[in-house]
Amino acid sequence: MSTQSDNPYIYADNAATTPLSPVAREAMLPFLGGTFGNPSGIHRVSREAAHALADIRARLARALGARDAGEIYLTSGGSESDNWVLRGAVRRFLDQHTADESHSPHPFVVTSAIEHHAILHCCEAMEHEGLATAIYLPVDAQGHVRAEDLERALAAHEGQVALVSVMLANNEIGTVEDIRELARIAHEHGIPFHTDAVQAVGHIPVDVRALGVDALSLSAHKFHGPRGVGLLYLREGFSIPPLIAGGAQERGERAGTENLAGAAGMTAALESALGGLENRMTRVAAQRDRLIRAVIDAVPDVKLTGDAGPDATRRLPSIASFICKDVDGELLVVLLDRAGVAAATGSACATGSTDPSHVILALGETDRRWNHGTLRLSLADDATASDIDALCERVPACILRARALSGTM
Ligand SMILES: *Cc1c(COP(=O)(O)O)cnc(C)c1O
Repeated sequence: MSTQSDNPYIYADNAATTPLSPVAREAMLPFLGGTFGNPSGIHRVSREAAHALADIRARLARALGARDAGEIYLTSGGSESDNWVLRGAVRRFLDQHTADESHSPHPFVVTSAIEHHAILHCCEAMEHEGLATAIYLPVDAQGHVRAEDLERALAAHEGQVALVSVMLANNEIGTVEDIRELARIAHEHGIPFHTDAVQAVGHIPVDVRALGVDALSLSAHKFHGPRGVGLLYLREGFSIPPLIAGGAQERGERAGTENLAGAAGMTAALESALGGLENRMTRVAAQRDRLIRAVIDAVPDVKLTGDAGPDATRRLPSIASFICKDVDGELLVVLLDRAGVAAATGSACATGSTDPSHVILALGETDRRWNHGTLRLSLADDATASDIDALCERVPACILRARALSGTM
């Protein structure tokens, strides 16, 4: 007889969110009770909170390779950090140009076609408001932004680009971009560079100085920290106006009484994710590759999306993503759920829409018999060999079943 433990439900949607780790929860508890002060005050209750906040900021800076704790700005997560840096960089550009010219050029923002919606929808909003025009760099068939495309875009808009923003790792296909090289090119043109590192931090090594970026976004809940907390790294010397006006928190750059419990949980989760990272990457990548092989070998007309190489500088260790011919992705995810697997199709934020994912389209997959059948499995860092065995069995079976049921597409 099959028991619960013989047939466990497997959560393979870690790119959407991860469960809070016990270490992170433990680190939050003091701030949900005893240490309740507002760090902005003068009395001892406030001073205790301010002291804890300073410690948290210093640890976050260290974990990211930042030069100074003053470069770390706490936010409510990846979406806020992304919106802040885009709007802030455009504002900064306009301020600089109205100061020394009678007419200010219309600013451009250069980004990629495969960014998260936090970047893409903010660009669309700024275009709609007439604030800036976005240039979306194409990607190759594996999802890499080509250096020459960035070079060409910047040369065509010399003196008009407020910011280049390219994600470090893609959330749908796991492709890792060559941020170091792209940032170098932006800097050659005197343009600041931001990377959305939300999918990368805690999963591959991320060091702001090694990457050479001016700004970086991250979000705690993608590496076993709490929901609703993240940060924006702003390199000393790259300053942008606030997005959220109000009190003088975060050196006057981001108003709002600090989420100390969240920040403490994020810090503990980040430090814990960095411990043993290299070993975990190797182990998870091997599990991912076993799963990819099992799916490709068992099911005809299924393709891996993203970078096929084993190199963690080119693909996240935890993401296996596919497109399946003549399969409805949403139906597949429903069947997987019934079979005991949590997976995703397209990006979670696009659920409910029946359009193919913008990422899959950018890879050049325009055939609608293929591009509606996207599947993303994002593995847990502590997945066991038997979890992977179960995925290797359930995923192919569900793809075949979904194909049979989608037959009339
Ligand atoms: C999840 C995610 C975000 C949004 O982060 P939130 O903290 O959920 O707002 C932004 N960018 C990428 C690449 C993501 O994966």
